[in-house]
Amino acid sequence: MTTYQSALAHAKRMLGALTIAILLVLVIDQFFGHSTIAFAIAIIGLVAANRPMLRMNCTTCGKNLFFRGIFVVPWPNKVCGKCGTDLAEASD
Ligand SMILES: [Zn+2]
Repeated sequence: MTTYQSALAHAKRMLGALTIAILLVLVIDQFFGHSTIAFAIAIIGLVAANRPMLRMNCTTCGKNLFFRGIFVVPWPNKVCGKCGTDLAEASD
């Protein structure tokens, strides 16, 4: 599996986790009223689920696939923005 493929799989997992987090907050809001705790749990859960993202780096220069300069985007780079390595191609 290439770095890009695992990054893409991670992006999809995060999309699912985000959906679940939003639903959790909405459901608790609906049944128990506005809850800061539910919101906090959702945020902590998302941050925890997002941790593997930090390991998804370019195999050549180590730049993270999710970073575009100073910005973090939810979709990974297919080609490294720094050194131009094709991350969708198996290199290891
Ligand atoms: Zn690179």
